[in-house]
Amino acid sequence: MGVFTKARHFERVVYAQDARAELKTIIAIHSTRLGPALGGCRIQPYRTEEAALEDVLRLAESMTWKAAAAGLDLGGGKAVIIADPERHKDEALLRAFGRTVESLGGRYITSVDVGSTVDDLDEIRRETKWVVGVSEAYAGSGDPSPITAHGVAASIRSCAFHVWRDPSLRGRRIGIQGVGKVGYNLATTLVAEGADVVVADPNLDQLGRAVADLRVDTCPPDQILELECDVLAPCALGGVINRETISRLKTRIICGAANNQLATVDDADALRRADVLYAPDFIVNAGGLISVADELIGWNRDRVLARVERIGRTLLDVFHLAQVRDMSTARAAIEYARQRMRTISALNR
Ligand code: NAD
Repeated sequence: MGVFTKARHFERVVYAQDARAELKTIIAIHSTRLGPALGGCRIQPYRTEEAALEDVLRLAESMTWKAAAAGLDLGGGKAVIIADPERHKDEALLRAFGRTVESLGGRYITSVDVGSTVDDLDEIRRETKWVVGVSEAYAGSGDPSPITAHGVAASIRSCAFHVWRDPSLRGRRIGIQGVGKVGYNLATTLVAEGADVVVADPNLDQLGRAVADLRVDTCPPDQILELECDVLAPCALGGVINRETISRLKTRIICGAANNQLATVDDADALRRADVLYAPDFIVNAGGLISVADELIGWNRDRVLARVERIGRTLLDVFHLAQVRDMSTARAAIEYARQRMRTISALNR
């Protein structure tokens, strides 16, 4: 399907500009069937408007599935600003974007993404209340990474239960690709639970911190996907699970935080044939979204953690659906989200 045809399946796709602020933005609202469309604002110097449109549509749609599967009263949306964040990001650009968000009257709620920061959200907030993930100074929830990691750990326990009928991670060998904000917090939890953790990261500062603080083993970044282990947790890049890497995997489970781990949804079918249990990324890493969304009702840490714990239960439901429907876990995750959208939006008003 061409990108312009795809756009017609969205509730709204808004192009906006402000010449004085050099703002060019596209906001895609994929669905508001469950509630306002929430998704971050990506600031990137796209080569063409078509490339920006393609990206924002893909990201907005995945937010619909993520919010629905996480049990939130939210829909899916996303924004892109076509600009180089290093060179063109300033107060005028961010405030002009904030006014565009405000003009949508709450149908779209923005947040942080690649190229934008919590400080930027504080600027955007001067023009609109439809922003979450702002700094703690503005009653925001701060860095969501520890909460995301909490959800990943709960997910790994569910995977262990599904495969071995035992959620304990004691003695399990777990490889973590990337010990940045999420990976480091995840490693901390897994070590505390007695897992045998191996980490890889090309950033020697990050790697050194994990080794010094947690006494974990390391592995070269180009070998982590081939590590013989029980669980592989991709916590760095997208697209790492693809036709080429699947044949080299020596793990029983893939469960990590990285967005878009699969190059294509067909790769989930290949994993299934290879008897590797794949925990769909947008279910596993929903902790960050659950946390920022809670700002809409006044952020509460205990409530957020309780909701994030439920990701483990959701994952088991998705695995069950995959078995019953004889489909990959990635396809089952989307079906799970669709089912919830159908059920809730069909209720009597
Ligand atoms: P981060 O930038 O803090 O950490 C990523 C780490 O991966 C860095 O330390 C980087 O050096 C490392 N890395 C890069 N290339 C690598 C490679 N080839 N092999 C091993 N390590 C490599 O990012 P983060 O916030 O920890 O997020 C990690 C992933 O999780 C991203 O895909 C992100 O989109 C996703 N995610 C994060 C959150 C969150 O709350 N932070 C929420 C949902 C999804």
